[in-house]
Amino acid sequence: MLQETPLRSVAAGVPGEGKRPHGARPWFFISDLHLSEAIPHTVAAFEHFIRVTAEEADSVFILGDLFEYWIGDDMLGEPFVARMAALLHTLSERGIALYIMHGNRDFLLGKRFMKAAGAIWLPDPFVITAFGMRITLAHGDALCTADRAYLRFRRFARLRLAQMLFLAWPFRWRQALAQRMRSASQEGRSRPVSPKYDATPEGIAALFRDSGTMTIVHGHTHRPARHREPGGTRWVLPDWDLDHGEHRGGYLRVDAEGLRALPLD
Ligand code: MN
Repeated sequence: MLQETPLRSVAAGVPGEGKRPHGARPWFFISDLHLSEAIPHTVAAFEHFIRVTAEEADSVFILGDLFEYWIGDDMLGEPFVARMAALLHTLSERGIALYIMHGNRDFLLGKRFMKAAGAIWLPDPFVITAFGMRITLAHGDALCTADRAYLRFRRFARLRLAQMLFLAWPFRWRQALAQRMRSASQEGRSRPVSPKYDATPEGIAALFRDSGTMTIVHGHTHRPARHREPGGTRWVLPDWDLDHGEHRGGYLRVDAEGLRALPLD
C-alpha cells in the first residue's frame, strides 16, 4: 500500500501564510460528501460549512470522495461543478488553506480542478504534524484489505497510463461508464453491510506501523467512530447525507487540545 505513495511529512501551517496569524487556529477534516446535484440539502450544508463553519479554521482537509464521481477535469464545464470549485476557492481567498486527497470515487480529480478550487493535492496516505501531533491521513479504501477485487481495481485505476487512456475518451463515453459503474457499485449511499467493506485489523496495523504515528484519520467506510487500536487511535470521519432519511454529517477538529468530533451546525 505504501509503495505507491511514500509517506511524506509537512510541518504545521504551510499555506494560508501571511493573510492570518497561525498558532491557535484549528484544522478541520471532512470526507465522503459525495456531492452531486441530486442531493441539494447536502450541498447546502457543505456551502454553510465552507462559508461559515470554516471561517475560524487555519486549514481544511478533504480526505476523499468530495464528489460522487469524477470522470475528468472537463467536468468543470458543468455549472454545478464550477460552482463548487468557486465555493472552495473562497477558502484560499480568505487565507484558509485547503488540502484535498483523492477518494475511490473522485481519484481522477486533477491539476485543473485543484487550481480552480485553490487546493493543494495530498497523496494517500499522508502524515501531517498538527499542533505537535503526528497524524496519518488516508481516505480509507486501501485499509479494506479483505476486498481483494477492489484492491486489484484500485492498483489498475491509479496507473498513469490507464488514467491517460480513460481521460482520452470522449466525455459522453466516460459519463456512460461512470453511470454503469455506479449502478453496479455495492457501496452506494447506504452503509456497506459486509465486513468486507470495512477496514481490517491487518490494514490498520500496517498503516500504524509504516507511518510510525499513533493517530490515523480516515473516511470511506461511513462508520464514524473513534477506535482504540493496538497501534493507536483511529478516527473515522462521517459521510454526509442530509437528503435521505436521518441526517448524517460532521467533521473533526484538531487544535492544541487535541482531536474532537463535531456535528454540523
Ligand atoms: Mn470512499
